[in-house]
Amino acid sequence: MRDLVEGKAKPPAAQNELEPYPVPIVEDPSATPAFGGKKPAVLVKSDGSKRCVKLIRELANSPGSITHQALLRPKCRHDVYVNVNYADKVNGDRKDLMTSSFSLGEEHNDFRATVADFAARDLAPQVERWNAAHEAPLEAIKLMADLGLFGLAGPEEYGGAGDFTSLCIAIEEIGKVDQSLGITLEAAVGLGINPIAHFGTAEQKARWLPDLIAGRALAAFGLTEPEAGSDAGATRTRATLVDHEWVINGSKQFITNSGTDITSLCTVTARTDTRDNGKPEISAIIVPTGTPGFEVGPGYAKLGWHASDTHPLTFADARIPEDHLLGERGQGYQQFLSILDGGRVAIAALALGCIRACLELATQYAMQRTSFGVQIGRKQGVAFQIADLDVMASAAHQLVYAAAAMRDHGVSAQEFNRAAAIAKLYATESAVTATRIATQVFGGYGFMEEYPVARFYRDAKVLEIGEGTSEVQRILIARRLGLPVE
Ligand SMILES: Cc1cc2nc3c(=O)[nH]c(=O)nc-3n(C[C@H](O)[C@H](O)[C@H](O)COP(=O)(O)OP(=O)(O)OC[C@H]3O[C@@H](n4cnc5c(N)ncnc54)[C@H](O)[C@@H]3O)c2cc1C
Repeated sequence: MRDLVEGKAKPPAAQNELEPYPVPIVEDPSATPAFGGKKPAVLVKSDGSKRCVKLIRELANSPGSITHQALLRPKCRHDVYVNVNYADKVNGDRKDLMTSSFSLGEEHNDFRATVADFAARDLAPQVERWNAAHEAPLEAIKLMADLGLFGLAGPEEYGGAGDFTSLCIAIEEIGKVDQSLGITLEAAVGLGINPIAHFGTAEQKARWLPDLIAGRALAAFGLTEPEAGSDAGATRTRATLVDHEWVINGSKQFITNSGTDITSLCTVTARTDTRDNGKPEISAIIVPTGTPGFEVGPGYAKLGWHASDTHPLTFADARIPEDHLLGERGQGYQQFLSILDGGRVAIAALALGCIRACLELATQYAMQRTSFGVQIGRKQGVAFQIADLDVMASAAHQLVYAAAAMRDHGVSAQEFNRAAAIAKLYATESAVTATRIATQVFGGYGFMEEYPVARFYRDAKVLEIGEGTSEVQRILIARRLGLPVE
């Protein structure tokens, strides 16, 4: 494999350098290929730049292009793996990728252990208290920020690590301890950072991203309205350009991370015009917190996610500078849909954390609790249900991390859209089932707040609703099959 990469290392790249260049190669027989199995992989010794490497030719049995994958941990060394991009191979035969055995590499597994230790040590002991307070705990957000979790998927030039798989691992492990903290991280990155990172101008990125990626600030995304949820294109909020300012009027509801003391902005979708065909022109606009006319309503009393921040928002002649438009005028709806695909995989990772928590808690309890003189785990009626939890966790893991790898390695938008919908649908519906099983295993104790299964039971339901309901996921999947579903 040595001849696949040539050249000598250059000094570390300038932060915004995008040009690929060669770095020295070290063969690593133990390197884990991107999608498991015996597919070829080479380990390229990093020069610290985390940049693309240049390959002089494709692997002999590689049908497609080759991509790089930077596996990063905050404050750790940076290796760069070079993997065959099997996504290209499966064009036209995508089931290959979706059903192939999938395993994470050593770096990701090490990272998982780091986050799991952190969550167990620094978060778990406080989780009940934070949930009882019914507000997003800034001290927990600071702890997660100090570990670098808000920067895992963000652009490297603004301090991020650019690795979506790592973000999913972090959300899963945090979500296994507490779903509210998991959604706080997920929304902060998926709905807060990503729109600006993907569609922002250089000025917008420079202004907002450093604090968001460092976790010193949170951003929210306001799409849902009282009359526009699944049908997000029906947005009624309007933004009119007057003297180089957007004048926004309307309302949003159920907006996560919109009202904390460190929330710095909310990106909102609004009608900016009507197209020739009569349909609304929808654009996205960054609204800084504290803008006159932009009011954050009281937090909702929710069934679950008690330690997550959710508010209604109103806009009454809120005036925003013209250059706060995010992306192209009229592209706000499309931008949001593309952002949502990544968010759905991240929500699936959160659901996976929930399933694994149920599996762990139910297994422990079934070993300890006795009934009719034996452990309840000896009863097939209990043991078989817990076995089902293991199946759900394993299947959800495959779907989540295959989809995350697609995102990191680059596949077509259509392929990723399908993979994200499948992962979200399966993992979230399984999570709801898993919490029902786990609380049943706990019997009456499962209904008591002092047992975490009760919290997971309350928290799971919204996973089937947020960032696209189960019905919306089924519509997307059915459409990819060519069905004329409405
Ligand atoms: C805790 C929480 C946090 C949230 N955070 C955010 C946020 O940060 N930003 C944001 O913008 N939104 C957020 N949301 C909103 C969330 O994304 C929406 O609630 C969700 O998309 C569903 O929209 P809706 O509530 O208007 O339900 P509706 O769209 O009114 O749907 C009602 C029911 O009808 C079904 N349905 C609708 N259309 C169809 C169809 N064509 N075919 C079949 N069934 C259909 C739905 O699946 C659902 O079961 C949050 C919601 C919650 C509960």
